[in-house]
Amino acid sequence: MKIIMLGAPGAGKGTQAKKIAEKYKIPHVSTGDLFRSNISNNTDLGKEAKQYMDAGKLVPDELTVRMLLDRVAGDDCKNGYVLDGFPRTIAQAEVLEQEVAKLNDKIDYAINVEVPDENIVKRMGGRRACTKCGATYHIEHVPPKKEGICDNCGSELVLRSDDAPETVNKRLGVYHEQTQPLIDFYGKRNILFEVDGTQDTQKVFSDIVKILGE
Ligand code: ADP
Ligand code: ADP
Ligand code: ZN
Repeated sequence: MKIIMLGAPGAGKGTQAKKIAEKYKIPHVSTGDLFRSNISNNTDLGKEAKQYMDAGKLVPDELTVRMLLDRVAGDDCKNGYVLDGFPRTIAQAEVLEQEVAKLNDKIDYAINVEVPDENIVKRMGGRRACTKCGATYHIEHVPPKKEGICDNCGSELVLRSDDAPETVNKRLGVYHEQTQPLIDFYGKRNILFEVDGTQDTQKVFSDIVKILGE
């Protein structure tokens, strides 16, 4: 099962991808998380990527594609994966398609989590992320058991530096310009499925399960 999550920043791709990974026992591969772990480990890739991320821009395709292909070449990805935050450009989608075809395989589902821009800006101000394990919460909609502390690992929760309202607006602009065209791209391949991402997280997930099967 090879699944792609599409949707604006903050649409709930990560939240749903984690649930999919757990239910269908496939790895959750998030390019945002991979970049953030490179940043916390102070790697050259992390240093390069951070400048773009803080500016609300996409990291160049070349760096992103290399990192992603490296990850999905891992043994644990042999039976599939759920990609969260990749592809974000047509060029990335084309490379992925070619690489998967080399393995005589294909992407099975592109799930578009649809949320209007007005909701996104509100949501992002409430997003809190774990500095250690990458778990994501929302101060109102998905609160941790103890304020400011990760349920999974007990570490501190922070507002991501790129979740400031100005940067979110820039990221939404980038999304509409560079990522939204992927909806058409996967529509033409007949693997596009839409879900209403404004519903509560459990309802969104049950709609996704209807698409993927029990
Ligand atoms: P969100 O959860 O808001 O969708 P991510 O955690 O997926 O954000 O990504 C954070 C940032 O990392 C992006 O704004 C972008 O700078 C960079 N990034 C992540 N994935 C990609 C990608 N596929 N191509 C280019 N840049 C990416
Ligand atoms: P993405 O990976 O698309 O950027 P996230 O999964 O990180 O999105 O979700 C963005 C924010 O919205 C987080 O704070 C998350 O807890 C919250 N969230 C996710 N899904 C929902 C939902 N269905 N309703 C309300 N808030 C949600
Ligand atoms: Zn944690």
